[in-house]
Amino acid sequence: MTITGDQSLLREINRMALVRVVQRQPGLSRADLAKETGLTKSTVSLLVQDLIDEGWMVESDVQATGTAGRRPTPLSIDGSRLALIGADVSLDNLSVLAVSLTGEVISEIAEPLAGGRPEIVIRQLARLVGNLVEQARRGGRRLLGIGVGVPGAVLTQQGVVKLAPNLAWRDVAFRSELSIELASLGVEDLPIFVQNDFDVAALGEYEFGEAPVPDPLIYLGLGVGVGAGVVVRDRLFLGADGFAGEVGHSILQLEGPVCSCGRRGCAEAFIGLKAISTRISGHAEDMLSVETIRRLLDREDEGALLSVKRAGRYLGVLIQNLWMYFNPGRVVIGGPVCELGAPFLDAARSCLEAYAQDCALQLPDIRLARFGTRSIAIGAAALVRHVLLRPMEFRFHER
Ligand SMILES: [Zn+2]
Repeated sequence: MTITGDQSLLREINRMALVRVVQRQPGLSRADLAKETGLTKSTVSLLVQDLIDEGWMVESDVQATGTAGRRPTPLSIDGSRLALIGADVSLDNLSVLAVSLTGEVISEIAEPLAGGRPEIVIRQLARLVGNLVEQARRGGRRLLGIGVGVPGAVLTQQGVVKLAPNLAWRDVAFRSELSIELASLGVEDLPIFVQNDFDVAALGEYEFGEAPVPDPLIYLGLGVGVGAGVVVRDRLFLGADGFAGEVGHSILQLEGPVCSCGRRGCAEAFIGLKAISTRISGHAEDMLSVETIRRLLDREDEGALLSVKRAGRYLGVLIQNLWMYFNPGRVVIGGPVCELGAPFLDAARSCLEAYAQDCALQLPDIRLARFGTRSIAIGAAALVRHVLLRPMEFRFHER
């Protein structure tokens, strides 16, 4: 999609405003949409017909009960004809999936990383994306764009990965290189959006959650790295340099254990997978996997149990601090460390409840990620929808 001139931008703003309203309130009629948006009924009718023809919206078979005369036809988002591609670039794996406009997974594919250098990862990613694009098109779906979540700080407008410390990447022109690789596979003209992995996971919860999603929404991602994505008033909160949400490097203890970032006592040095593994095994080499730690917990290994509960309590401290910094309507916890289950999560919960009791305040809504291990890939697809539905705010992001 290329937007040229004010007229077509204005038209796109109006069209996408209609889609956003229908997304928030499925079942509205054309007349309701005119009321909600302030557009004339004839404009709404024209635009809605376009949106139906293009696969954004669908008329429901069930007629809403109305008064005498022509009954209004309820509209909803069409999950059957368009598709979004989302990719999760993790430290050892690539996962790519295609989802419908309503967030259902249509197809997915995952592979271990073929190497650590950016050009190898980008080429491999292009191949996987190419496969899914072809599949989606064979299935008769029109694609809207490609979103990518990467574990690092991203300059959003440029599509550049500024710094991904755990991948040892710096200043990688991710979007333009992915675009070149995709073009060589015959995939062209799809907008590509790159964003931090926890930011896109937050968008996944926001875009595909039941409306209205509580605000602000915080997604707290727990893996080797620890970080957060924050959505405030319909926007990702990115900060002045795009580093907002690096909560894994907020300090929880003076003179605490050394963190990957060089500081001491960071949250990641207590809650990150590497930190938990080191605490259990007594050394930093050969990080224990989540599955291995789970097996130790199942065997009621005392050392593992103590270490995991301790990490859970620090998670409680971190969420308590986020609660006070942001006054969130909802905190979502995701990432592989959550799979440690009850010993970890219950410790966090009772720590938090104690803080809430001490200050006589009600905790915010705290829940596990809706899409589990797919949170980042589905979130990356949600990023595409989020940007396309807001042409005014993101018009400079167009390729
Ligand atoms: Zn740190």
